[in-house]
Amino acid sequence: MRGVLALALVVALAPNADRDSAVRAQGRADVILVNGRVLTVDRNDSVAEAVAVTAGRISAVGTTAQIKTMAGETTEVIDLRGRAVTPGLIDTHVHFSGADALFTVALGEASVNSIEEVKKRVAAKVATLKPGEWVRGGGWDEGKYVERRYITAADLDAVAPNNPVWLMHTTGHYGVGNTYALKMAEVTAKTPDPPAGTIDRDAQGAPTGVMKESAMALVSRLVPPLSRDQQKQGILHIIREFNREGMTGAKDPGIGQAKWDLYREIQGEGNLTVRVFALWSGARRLEDRAAVLARVEANPRRIGLADGMLISGGVKMYMDGSGGARTAWMYQDWNKDLNGIDTGNKGYPSTDPDAYRRIVTELHDAGVHVSTHAIGDRAIDWVVDTYDQALRAKPTRGLRHGIIHANTPTDRAIDTMARLQRDYDAGYPEASAGFMWWIGDNYAANLGPQRNVRLKPFQTFVKKGVQWGGGSDYSVTPFPARYGIWASVARETLNGTHGARPFGTAEAVDVRTALRSYTAWAAARIFLDDRLGTIETGKDADLAVWDRSPYEVSTAALKDLRCEMTFVRGRLVYRR
Ligand SMILES: [Zn+2]
Repeated sequence: MRGVLALALVVALAPNADRDSAVRAQGRADVILVNGRVLTVDRNDSVAEAVAVTAGRISAVGTTAQIKTMAGETTEVIDLRGRAVTPGLIDTHVHFSGADALFTVALGEASVNSIEEVKKRVAAKVATLKPGEWVRGGGWDEGKYVERRYITAADLDAVAPNNPVWLMHTTGHYGVGNTYALKMAEVTAKTPDPPAGTIDRDAQGAPTGVMKESAMALVSRLVPPLSRDQQKQGILHIIREFNREGMTGAKDPGIGQAKWDLYREIQGEGNLTVRVFALWSGARRLEDRAAVLARVEANPRRIGLADGMLISGGVKMYMDGSGGARTAWMYQDWNKDLNGIDTGNKGYPSTDPDAYRRIVTELHDAGVHVSTHAIGDRAIDWVVDTYDQALRAKPTRGLRHGIIHANTPTDRAIDTMARLQRDYDAGYPEASAGFMWWIGDNYAANLGPQRNVRLKPFQTFVKKGVQWGGGSDYSVTPFPARYGIWASVARETLNGTHGARPFGTAEAVDVRTALRSYTAWAAARIFLDDRLGTIETGKDADLAVWDRSPYEVSTAALKDLRCEMTFVRGRLVYRR
């Protein structure tokens, strides 16, 4: 666990340690929370009544009587009246921005349940624009529509004949353009599919408007980007929204220099109240790998560790596509409509597998943490085998390489993860339980009955000793971690199109395990487990107060838990 990080942490913690012992000598806490249920998520998952915070740290955990002795004249006393406290929740895979939700046509709401509704919202946007101006949007999902089909260019032409339209799918792995946009992109029936991409076509071979994986860029590169100010507002917005949900940490995959600079600016202005562990966008081609490594080396992780608020964490890689688009790399053909077969389509790798292996090996050899997007069983095997080979060739404990999503791992992959975790502190899934819910109806149809029961095999993870981190993949699913915690336990889809529980319940876990995947285990995914993820003396006071204890409510009620207060490093950042 420690190894690589130990030295940096000792240096970083020294000043605080002095301050702490001084305060402790006075015996006075800044804040105490008493008369509650403090879910510590410590090794024994113990539940206390009260917790004290001093100088940003947890200075004591115990009974109300014990903690009350730490109150002095200036101590703020919060009477929980039976409410619960958890460690601040951490999302280990979130595209950390609210900019699209704020500034584009937002289709990622449960109320958008038909293509007619999509058209209505696009039409409303068009009414505010001049002819020729772009309509941007995202969050659509055919799995939620009564029509049960993709949106097409023709649908959009009906409401936007004189404006280009580009609507990203909720998975981010495909999108749809209208005819105006396709014309601008010069996409016709004659345009060949680009490498690792698919232009969806009708029976006559004409583009339908749907573009998958690398083919998206044919249209999306023409869409003007949001301004720097809009991007900044988007980050500030999601920081506030995270804090409202008791969330205090985020692992943001695939950033570039511009976003890093915005994070630095927001931190400098004192508004970074969510810990951000960022992964730089990795190379998809061998020739780009040196530039990526140079960027990582220009921003070494240990610098960010000083206060643990902003960390340049490593590199995000891609192995394959999406379970929604049926582009993820599988051993067997994808299904469609549950029992049908999408004959001949096993998806594909989105990075050349040999190039992937070389790029990751070089990053590993340079001591860089890597997390790789891998959805399909074949992609997951390739990723864990790559980590395994790199670790055998250069054994390094504590780089904690991750497998993002890890939807349907083979038994062999799960065994390899367990071994890598034990031997090297590497090979951790960054799972997204919310997929089963939010895009589960689509997923169930694409995976088919046999693979469905293998989706997100959390119970098998537990049995084999595999730890994972929870994540939303926002904007793929809504980010509140209470949804992911609920989905880990309930395994229900949003609409029950193929039955309420097409993924079965054999792989469900209990709420304690689910909470652990968003706290103690998630803290380790962002290399902050020495100071976060549990409520224990000496750790940073990242805390969330809830209206009820997740350990005491029904499964269905987990979804509706309400955050009442959030603390980051002892500072109250949200109060309902
Ligand atoms: Zn993602």
